[in-house]
Amino acid sequence: MELTLLTNPVQNIAPRTIWCLGRNYAEHARELGNQVETKPLVFQKGLNALAPFENEVPLDWSLGPIHYETELVMLMDRVGDVPRLVGLALGLDLTLRDLQSELKSAGKPWTLAKSFDHAAIVSHFVPLTQFEDLDTLIFTMQLNGELRQTGETRKMILSLYDTMAYLETFTRLRAGDLVFTGTPAGVGELHPGNEILADLAGQLVARIKVI
Ligand code: MG
Repeated sequence: MELTLLTNPVQNIAPRTIWCLGRNYAEHARELGNQVETKPLVFQKGLNALAPFENEVPLDWSLGPIHYETELVMLMDRVGDVPRLVGLALGLDLTLRDLQSELKSAGKPWTLAKSFDHAAIVSHFVPLTQFEDLDTLIFTMQLNGELRQTGETRKMILSLYDTMAYLETFTRLRAGDLVFTGTPAGVGELHPGNEILADLAGQLVARIKVI
């Protein structure tokens, strides 16, 4: 899949690495019975997991209960030595929740619970210049027309820029790197035929049907 930055003309970017934050919103950490910590945990999804946040996305329902987590996704670039945030998208971090809990309690990596095919759903990216204040962004998610999740960047434990700085201590972020920045509270299970509509600050609306 190519990542699309909605500029004039539209720019396509090859995805590179998918970084993900866990427990970056205190209320969500609590809803899953996790401790609220000052540093979020970080994991990755493989590029196999990428799928566009549009039309219909097939999922393998035989794998176990699939939960949605609606998240802001950052698209990175790099100019010389400086990492640059170029755009924001809406994403769904799909999770095999039972498998994740099983692996978690066994002290094993979550990879299969987080990186199955189509587990990283990403919309078009809106250029950063279209947002006035990154610390007051609000995004919402409706499942079959019912509001399920509301995220506010001011409630993130690590802000978007702090997240970049934190990751930069371990890696050089580069063009095409994506960062899922964690889910607010309200996660839940998906079922075949469910329709998801997500909105980011009135700048972006993404729709999907999972089949
Ligand atoms: Mg997540």
